[in-house]
Amino acid sequence: MTTTLIDRRPPDGDAAPWLPSLIGLSRADLAAALAAAHVPEKQRRMRMRQLWHWIYHRGATSFTQMTDISKDLRQSLSEAFVIGRPEIVTGQISTDGTRKWLLRLAPDERGARHEVEMVYIPEEDRGTLCISSQVGCTLTCTFCHTGTQRLVRNLTAEEIVMQVMIARDQMEEWPHQIEANPHPPAGGRFITNVVLMGMGEPLYNFDNVKTAMEIVSDGEGISLSKRRITLSTSGVVPEIPRAGEEIGTMLAISLHGTTDDIRDRLVPLNKKYPIAELLAACRAYPGLSNARRITFEYVMLKGVNDTLADAKRLVHLLKGIPAKVNLIPFNPWPGAPYECSEWETIEAFAEVLNRAGYASPVRTPRGRDIMAACGQLKSESQKIRAKERLAAESASP
Ligand code: SAH
Ligand code: SF4
Repeated sequence: MTTTLIDRRPPDGDAAPWLPSLIGLSRADLAAALAAAHVPEKQRRMRMRQLWHWIYHRGATSFTQMTDISKDLRQSLSEAFVIGRPEIVTGQISTDGTRKWLLRLAPDERGARHEVEMVYIPEEDRGTLCISSQVGCTLTCTFCHTGTQRLVRNLTAEEIVMQVMIARDQMEEWPHQIEANPHPPAGGRFITNVVLMGMGEPLYNFDNVKTAMEIVSDGEGISLSKRRITLSTSGVVPEIPRAGEEIGTMLAISLHGTTDDIRDRLVPLNKKYPIAELLAACRAYPGLSNARRITFEYVMLKGVNDTLADAKRLVHLLKGIPAKVNLIPFNPWPGAPYECSEWETIEAFAEVLNRAGYASPVRTPRGRDIMAACGQLKSESQKIRAKERLAAESASP
């Protein structure tokens, strides 16, 4: 796979400052940035629309591409801002076609350069991009590898949007590229859906996730419908109504347990917001119907939450909520305190749900060979880095 490195600094050397990026700004903030760069007020609206088009519709990575903007303005924009991409450290392709990229972010205010992973999962009828909202996670779900890594920081709106843009670059899927492609993918697009199911709890990074989803769904740019974006939360109850009103994407809830006792152990946040409160917030989520259901994610853990009694309790809990259930076979990681349920157990569990009228696809683990499955993100790259460090240390005198 190709690895590109686009540095955000201007070309005149290491000592140059890191410039602010125009990516990830709302339309209003983009106009304000143009004002700060002394674009005359009369032109600002038009310039803003031109920039929006180049950045989010054409996927431009440099101001020089913007041929309908005067040379002088392009020059002054490139002295004040950047629109490049973070560095792609590695790109991997699984034997099943799943792809994973490790991205190195620009330095934060303390100068640290963190990394996040994103995953692309091709299926017959769709292609799903799984993106991250935080580096690490403050929550400590006991079956999730990300949960064993402490939170490093929230991603900025730019870094969230950029994941979708990098995926479009990599799949060569900007509109003009698709038009020129003699062999378009089945269904016309590679990336048809985006899920916020990578690293982090999106509702603990509400404002940045909101801005990013506004940009990603803007009809004059990346133009991905909010019905094709799913935000997954471990159950931050107070933020769920706001998410419905202000973000407006589809919702997925990481339920995983059918009693507070079990869920307290798996998703410790349950002690703060127990199941009854969580489901009440789900019932009130705006715009629900049989065509717009909430997805309940349920990780299958051997001997922990996988009995027929659990399945029946689950059916009972979901009564009255337009819902579908995703049964996720547990994806193991080194040192994990759980095992995945037996296949027959998962099938029997699914059967109870199906008989009660719930579509409950068992999510086939994808990309396990490159550690790209749910809850495994970041781990492998950290391991590789640790190995590299060891090798470097033993090589040094
Ligand atoms: N923090 C959010 C979104 C990221 S996790 C949330 O928890 O919903 C995306 C999904 O993967 C969640 O349902 C999560 O519970 C699940 N998951 C985490 N670790 C897993 C593992 N090891 N095996 C299977 N699913 C896992
Ligand atoms: Fe965080 Fe979600 Fe993992 Fe829980 S499952 S630790 S909320 S990323």
